[in-house]
Amino acid sequence: MSVRELPVPDHAFVGTVLLCCPSGHSLVDGCYPLRRDRGRPEPFPTRHWLRCPNVSGAIARLEYAGGVRRIEALIAADPDLRARVHADHRTYAAERWSALTPADRDWVTSAGLAPALRETGIGGIRDPDRVKCLHLHWAHHLVTGGSAIGEQIDELADTPIICAR
Ligand SMILES: [Zn+2]
Repeated sequence: MSVRELPVPDHAFVGTVLLCCPSGHSLVDGCYPLRRDRGRPEPFPTRHWLRCPNVSGAIARLEYAGGVRRIEALIAADPDLRARVHADHRTYAAERWSALTPADRDWVTSAGLAPALRETGIGGIRDPDRVKCLHLHWAHHLVTGGSAIGEQIDELADTPIICAR
């Protein structure tokens, strides 16, 4: 996947800049857990969106090189890593739920949509042993100051994953 083909969300609901690159552009944006730009509100389980094209490109190269499968194999083989990954998923889900306003929590619950925000992990993943996408994990790693999967991504990279021209 080239940088051009990376999924770009509707910026009407992404746009809280959480981290900037040294050059000044957004590195990670924060996302509210509910999007309202398409009529009926929908759960949006991804909390952090990697925006820097240089960092996203470096992460995409790791994906091309099989990074998702390699980290899934490490999680399958290492119970300690698996436990840390599962704990990260639970923390993320709890933070996501607490980020909703009380009124939105009530609405999500009454609409029967709470499981999408309470019972899924980082980026909305349902199987905590799967990795899905390295971009969302790297964004989470940067914002939280360290995640179990982020550390594995860092180890896969030959060079630091930074915004470099
Ligand atoms: Zn950048």
